[in-house]
Amino acid sequence: MVKRISHIGIAVKDLEAGIAFYQSLGLELEGIEEVPSQKVKVAFLPCGDTRIELLCPTSEDSPVAKFIEKKGEGIQHIAFAVDDLPEALTEAESKGIILIDKEPRPGAHHADIAFLHPKSSMGVLIELCKESDKVKK
Ligand code: ZN
Repeated sequence: MVKRISHIGIAVKDLEAGIAFYQSLGLELEGIEEVPSQKVKVAFLPCGDTRIELLCPTSEDSPVAKFIEKKGEGIQHIAFAVDDLPEALTEAESKGIILIDKEPRPGAHHADIAFLHPKSSMGVLIELCKESDKVKK
């Protein structure tokens, strides 16, 4: 079902500080995008064929703001790339995995995304991600 890690989503309170840290490790900032559906600003830092995505809430009722409130800054989700997102969701559900999103929704980078429930995955919030052909290498 999954092909590789698309990206790792990391919740930060201060986007500039997060970017500066990963740049100090040698990663390059590819871009910043606002994702209204998630109420976050996302900074992309490619690393090999995956990316670090820094997620900074733009509103107090953003899921990422709630995450930071509960758990502090840190890894918020891991995203796996899939070829066919609706098919992957059907397959996951047929295996008894609890879905947060039964339907794909728009994510950053023109991708379609859907989250699986951490209850099914030992506490890890997993995103399935159909990356856009527009940005595929
Ligand atoms: Zn993501």
